[in-house]
Amino acid sequence: MQFRDVIGHDHIKGQLMANVQAGRISHAQLFLGPDDSGTLAIALAYARFILCHDKGEDDSCGKCPSCLKFSKLAHPDLHFFFPSAPNQEHKKDVSSKLFLPRWREILEGTPYFTYRQWLEHLGIENKQAIINTEDCNNIIRALGLKSYEGKYKIIFVYMTEKLYYAAAPKLLKVLEEPPKNTLFLMVSENKDLVLNTILSRTQILKVSHPSEEEISQALAEKTGTDPARAKQIAFLSDGSVSEALRLVKHSGEVMADFDSFREWMRYCYKKDTSKIIKWAEETSRGGREKQKSFFQYGLKIFRLCLLHNYDAASLIRLEGEEKDFISKFSPFINHRNAIQIVAAFNTAITHLERNANPKILFTDLSFQLVRLMHS
Ligand SMILES: [Zn+2]
Repeated sequence: MQFRDVIGHDHIKGQLMANVQAGRISHAQLFLGPDDSGTLAIALAYARFILCHDKGEDDSCGKCPSCLKFSKLAHPDLHFFFPSAPNQEHKKDVSSKLFLPRWREILEGTPYFTYRQWLEHLGIENKQAIINTEDCNNIIRALGLKSYEGKYKIIFVYMTEKLYYAAAPKLLKVLEEPPKNTLFLMVSENKDLVLNTILSRTQILKVSHPSEEEISQALAEKTGTDPARAKQIAFLSDGSVSEALRLVKHSGEVMADFDSFREWMRYCYKKDTSKIIKWAEETSRGGREKQKSFFQYGLKIFRLCLLHNYDAASLIRLEGEEKDFISKFSPFINHRNAIQIVAAFNTAITHLERNANPKILFTDLSFQLVRLMHS
């Protein structure tokens, strides 16, 4: 991750690089913002820039020995800490150190994963993950090590709010009087959950979602997505870079979702029971994740219909068949049935997560839609 790979946030990037160039590096910095906005990506690019031997005006070099080690996420002066919990692989005592291979694995994919995706990656999505006492001991240990390259040593903490409160006092002292050339780079989503004693010793850098334009431009430039499609995806993803990248990866599926959704709504509108049942049967054959994302797609379409009803101009960024469909379909969505439709979809998503039979779920939801659409 270099600064050039970070989507949007030109101002923050410029500020951070200027601080490093001027030798004004704060010893503890907290990157605060939604987990899908790019906080992790920015913090990583910053860490790399600090450690780079041959930094340029506007980025790390990408080629020096430090950058090469960084690319493999194996820089000896970079120490990662993050929330974890026992899983299938490590059933008892856990620590960031044990899960480091998994951490590298997810980062090699993209630093734009959400916290939930991290938990899913470890197979602990239903557990409370924490940065535990063992992690705090390891942080103290890392502080005692000599810096390998004789420059900075970076303690990188992902999701600082998950720091186990009973283990935190150990850290406070070092945050107050950090050893020379030690930097704490912390990422957090919710300031209210971070211990006040940490906040008061930290420089906070607020990160918000990049703009729709920044996302669509980056998608077109970096992923080779067709510009019109990139605009559409940026619009559908509401500023979430993680969601935008997911949609790019499944761009074909998004179109398939659209076709399937349009078909489904037609059958519901016509109250065509036999077609509804056949559709439910076919759709229920896909995997659970795919079905969930289909429902989420449906929710977006309903939301767009409501927007269309209130203010058609907000749809300008949607193009082609989707735009046509929404303008034709939106008269059937109104303030009377919208709340119930959204609730029915959300219930269906919850049931899917609890392993409900998808065929029954799709059929049942279809009949609710028939009723709501004609009410
Ligand atoms: Zn370099």
